[in-house]
Amino acid sequence: MATPIAHSLFGITLYVLFTQKAIQLKEWKWLLFAPLLASLADFDFIPGLFMGDYNSFHRGVSHSIGVTLIISLLLWLVLRKGCSFSGWKCFLFLFCLYGSHLVIDFFTRDTWAPHGAQFLWPFSSDYFKSPVDLFLDANRTPWTRVFSLHNLITYLSECVLFGTPLYYFSKWFGKKEYNSST
Ligand SMILES: [Zn+2]
Repeated sequence: MATPIAHSLFGITLYVLFTQKAIQLKEWKWLLFAPLLASLADFDFIPGLFMGDYNSFHRGVSHSIGVTLIISLLLWLVLRKGCSFSGWKCFLFLFCLYGSHLVIDFFTRDTWAPHGAQFLWPFSSDYFKSPVDLFLDANRTPWTRVFSLHNLITYLSECVLFGTPLYYFSKWFGKKEYNSST
């Protein structure tokens, strides 16, 4: 599955696209929130830690359209007043942030059976996976493989594939803002 690098960079890209503004440090709360929500589905390893196998629940219902809707709705109810966008756009932003995780994982190489995730829960409990891999996977078992050459290549490819569009979108919106203010 993809690493937090890919999910976080794509989360910040969604923030830039929704706000149509360049990255600004004064928006640090959203710049922390966006990557966190985009990576949240992988926190499903936590209940597994108590059972001695952190993979017990990994890529289960946390990676599903059902949980994406529930989390987006709950967060929307809590955050809608402080959200940078009004009404449905705030919900859409939250939905896209959490849901982006599913899309990226769907297109990521996965050698760990069962392949893919329960993306369609509650409509189906089957695991689905794209037949085409767009992104490399990272090995986490055993933990020493976190620092392997394979993983290093994955980290670097994610930085390039997800960092490049983020850089150019942010630059483009910054330029647009500058032109409209002069
Ligand atoms: Zn995941």
